[in-house]
Amino acid sequence: MDKIILIKYGELNTKKGNRNFFINTLYKNVLNSLKDYDVKISKDRARMYIEFKDEDLDSIKSIIDKIFGIYKYHIAYIVNTNIEDIKSKVLEIVKKEDFNTFKVESNRSYKEFPLNSLELSKTLGGVILKNIDSIKVDVHNPELLVNVEVREKKSYIYLNSYMGSGGYPVGVQPKGMLMLSGGIDSPVAGYLALKRGMTLDAVYFEAIPHTSIEARNKVITLAKKLLPYGTNINLHIVNFTKIQEAIYKNCHSNYVITIMRRMMYRIMEKIVNKYNGYVIVNGESIGQVASQTLTSMKVINDVTSIPVIRPVACLDKLEIIDIAKKIDTYETSILPYEDCCTVFVPKHPVINPTIEASEIEENEFNYEEMINEAVNSIETIKIKKDEKEFSSLL
Ligand code: ATP
Ligand code: MG
Repeated sequence: MDKIILIKYGELNTKKGNRNFFINTLYKNVLNSLKDYDVKISKDRARMYIEFKDEDLDSIKSIIDKIFGIYKYHIAYIVNTNIEDIKSKVLEIVKKEDFNTFKVESNRSYKEFPLNSLELSKTLGGVILKNIDSIKVDVHNPELLVNVEVREKKSYIYLNSYMGSGGYPVGVQPKGMLMLSGGIDSPVAGYLALKRGMTLDAVYFEAIPHTSIEARNKVITLAKKLLPYGTNINLHIVNFTKIQEAIYKNCHSNYVITIMRRMMYRIMEKIVNKYNGYVIVNGESIGQVASQTLTSMKVINDVTSIPVIRPVACLDKLEIIDIAKKIDTYETSILPYEDCCTVFVPKHPVINPTIEASEIEENEFNYEEMINEAVNSIETIKIKKDEKEFSSLL
């Protein structure tokens, strides 16, 4: 094989002290994502290299397109690090292309190489001009950009460039607990949290018989759709029925949503502690519904000191939908099964709740015991890449 995938790291370039940790985490993630392929993966401080079988290139590209921490990648030709080999390979590659203007850009990290970057670009430019008719150099806006990277053992030549997903490799931050409902917003919030390098567990509040098993399956499908961007996900299913019924029985209808969300946060805090998480992540977006006004958020957030990360807080619904479509969760999210928040929506939820009024409502029933029972009876499903299904999809 004379070609290789050459990966350029993303923002990790700026993280000097953590560089090795970032690169090693990305390396592990790439290795794990490509474990079903016949590949050889190596790395240095500036690049990662994937040797692959030609017939797998398209599938491998679609996998690495989803791995966070990759800024750019190239499909590059490999050549020995000596000037004659580089010249003849460049010429062979460029001769297959149709172009009028070009530019050569060289990058020499191997300082023993006899030519510096500028000299190498000039030399290669000269070779191309001499051997191909009616073309010229355009340094500002070339039709063909020939890139050459000179490294100690091998050198690389490429004409193409593909953008990766950016972000940080998943695993450079500890675990966040994603509140995953069946809606549009929370899977997008999960995707954005993964992009910052968090690993995720997911938590789904279920209120059977008021919610259906289809609603649960929808959440499982959504969690699966996040897998290509991260690692395996533990989905914790909380039985919320008793608490929800108690809220409806005891609280004023306009406070029902506020109290319900305060209960969810109380449970989330216990789950974060029980399963070694660090933060809560959810799909709240400022102003989207009554429970997401800033006043509501303050009252709801008051029950926990665990940080709540709201990746879509400042996005428009249409921006969230765009991401949902891109990560292929949208079609699943708009399936009609109701989740526990939508089943009992009151006609007039309070827009400006207060902490005092919420506490008065909550004094109407003994929720502590119910919360502990809900946390102790959590059912956890391991959402994993199903290898068979996974490879048959490719
Ligand atoms: P989504 O589209 O993600 O369902 P939403 O606009 O419907 O969000 P809400 O129902 O108010 O908004 O919920 C806000 C956030 O609270 C959700 O994005 C999700 O993170 C969390 N959440 C709501 N319901 C549940 C649930 N049943 N299980 C787990 N998390 C939930
Ligand atoms: Mg919802």
